[in-house]
Parts: sequence; C-alpha cells; structure tokens
Amino acid sequence: MQRQRKVDAEVAARQLVSEGKVKLYVFRPSGRSVWIVVGRHRDYLVMPSVPYCTCDDFFFRVLNNEKPHCYHLLAVRMASESGAYEVIEESDDWYWQLIWEWLDWSRK
Ligand SMILES: [Zn+2]
Repeated sequence: MQRQRKVDAEVAARQLVSEGKVKLYVFRPSGRSVWIVVGRHRDYLVMPSVPYCTCDDFFFRVLNNEKPHCYHLLAVRMASESGAYEVIEESDDWYWQLIWEWLDWSRK
C-alpha cells in the first residue's frame, strides 16, 4: 500500500514536470525566488528547502506524518534537478501581492 502510493506520487509529479507546471519566479532586482506549481484549482507555493507546500495534502497528511511529501514537492525536486522548469521574472513590486495570493490567507 505504502509503495503503491509512493509510485502514484512519482507518476503525478513527473506529469506536472512534463506538462510545464513547475515555475520559478525570480523577483528583480532583489533576486528573491519562489517555486510555484500550477494546480488544477490554484497555484501552490512550494519551498523545497523547508520543506513546505501550500496544498491540503501537505497540511493534512505530510504534517500528520502519513506521508513524507506531497507530489508538488517531488515535482519541484525533479524539475530543479533536470532543469525542466520555466523561469518567470517579476518586479519586486509584485512580491508581497503574489505571496499573499499563493499563501491564500484570504481563504480563512
Ligand atoms: Zn503540495
């Protein structure tokens, strides 16, 4: 069961990478960068170094130790290793507005 779930996560992550859903936003001039995975309903902010992801799966299952990571984290790791991600440059003026949207604090 555990193994099956791991395989599914890897398949899902690879699909995200191959569909170009992994983006690295780089803010100028500061050079701050943020990983984003484009999901079906919204975008997810992913911090592989923490690790952290804003999806429900991460919240309810990873933080409960039911699984080691969500597939967005896997996708970012795969993309960063293979270079298969899109770099989007934004002005620093947009940084906080975008972070707020990605963190979805307005949700509740
Ligand atoms: Zn996630």
